[in-house]
Amino acid sequence: MKEVRVRFAPSPTGFLHVGGARTAIFNWLFAKNKGGKFLLRIEDTDPERSKSELSAQILRSMEWLGMTADEEIVYQALNINRHKKVVNELIGLGKAYYAFETQEELDQMRKDAKAKKQQYKYNRASLDLNTETIKKYLAEGKPYAIRFKVPDGSTEFIDIVHGKTVFNNSEIEDFVILRSDGSPVYQIAVVVDDHDMKISHVIRGDDHLSNTPKQILLYNALGWEVPDFAHLPMILDEQKKKLSKRRNPVSVEEYKKKGYLAEALFNFLTLLGFAPEGNKEIFSKKETTKEFTFERVNKSSAVFDMKKLGWINSEYLKLADPIILSGLVRNKILELKLPEVDDTTRLNIEYLCKVISLMKERVSTINDFVEFGRYFFTAPVTFEENGLQKHWNQKIRTVFLRYFDDLNEISNWEIEILEDHLRKFAEVNNVKAGELIHVLRLSLTGITISPGIFDLMSILDKETVIKRIGYFLNRVQEFKF
Ligand code: GLU
Repeated sequence: MKEVRVRFAPSPTGFLHVGGARTAIFNWLFAKNKGGKFLLRIEDTDPERSKSELSAQILRSMEWLGMTADEEIVYQALNINRHKKVVNELIGLGKAYYAFETQEELDQMRKDAKAKKQQYKYNRASLDLNTETIKKYLAEGKPYAIRFKVPDGSTEFIDIVHGKTVFNNSEIEDFVILRSDGSPVYQIAVVVDDHDMKISHVIRGDDHLSNTPKQILLYNALGWEVPDFAHLPMILDEQKKKLSKRRNPVSVEEYKKKGYLAEALFNFLTLLGFAPEGNKEIFSKKETTKEFTFERVNKSSAVFDMKKLGWINSEYLKLADPIILSGLVRNKILELKLPEVDDTTRLNIEYLCKVISLMKERVSTINDFVEFGRYFFTAPVTFEENGLQKHWNQKIRTVFLRYFDDLNEISNWEIEILEDHLRKFAEVNNVKAGELIHVLRLSLTGITISPGIFDLMSILDKETVIKRIGYFLNRVQEFKF
């Protein structure tokens, strides 16, 4: 088999899209599986829409996902002269020609076809212009585009995912390869660059399938070896519609911001089209690299299921090294500028690791640690009204005040001792342990859901617990039933 050299070729007109990331992943997995090379090409030829910040952003997202290029990154805009040279070669070979129709004329032809309910196709009006006329027009400075002369017949190829694919050339118009402003068009740029980069397999989304016959025709016209093609299934959202940022976040960066782990997103995106053996859902990059084969890539579209992503991420959180997680949680806390977190004891690794081990079964993103476990880092200033209605009744008020006094006396602040103390206290005072626990939880967290109360008390430490209950009692005295 030929040396595997694949490329991911994003256009820096936006952030790295999850669909693009999935394409990159399949390229990367295939290259690594075959001991080949994974290359990156930034297709920045559109000067108006391509932004260098976006290129940098895309590369950061790629790096975050753990995919870096095995050779120097290629910036397509730097190859424009080479693309133009190849266009000239095609003219020289009689396989491309000057087309002098103006935009207005072309628009009119399109309108006419539409009025006649015909499919528009360029009518080759400039195909047979003689050399004299062409020279004259060029001397006059008449604007022109260069079109590729599509030969008769059909173009077929064996797509690695879809199998034999045939296009009738009569359905392909003589497409423009150089615009009237002198800029090369995607079709030629991509073929020249893939050829120059010695790309063996072009792996990309299904949306490029219709470009493939045009590109194959260009390879053939230039006498270049045609790479293999694999077109990956579309990714749809849960409503079976194209992913749209109105419904779901679509950039990798946003998933990072929302607290998903890179490995989990990588795993999830791999499942969008790839079915691992034994229908495993959680697998490491290393395992997938070993197992990856296009035989297990589906033809039909894949559904981007947010719930599944949440589940996969939660599984990764359970498996992750708490030290790494604590760094991520710490960054999130700092980013959110929570009040009181200048209290460095709440940001040290040891404390964060304790919080993480208590919470990790209950969360599905890094952000959830801070969202659902905010009270681990900052004192509650409000208390859930429904919780108070339910639990802060007359009977418990007096008992809770006494419990608070009692708590002050405990010097050995350990989980078992705290639990023992509360249960005995409840018994002596004729309330259920649960009744006390509910109020205690409200006072310490401001809400009615948390991990085990004694773990929580132990983690927060005595001073904080006493301070928070004191504040709670002050605040809820005013609470009216
Ligand atoms: N730059 C193209 C895109 O972002 C990809 C071209 C290709 O893979 O052939 O869709």
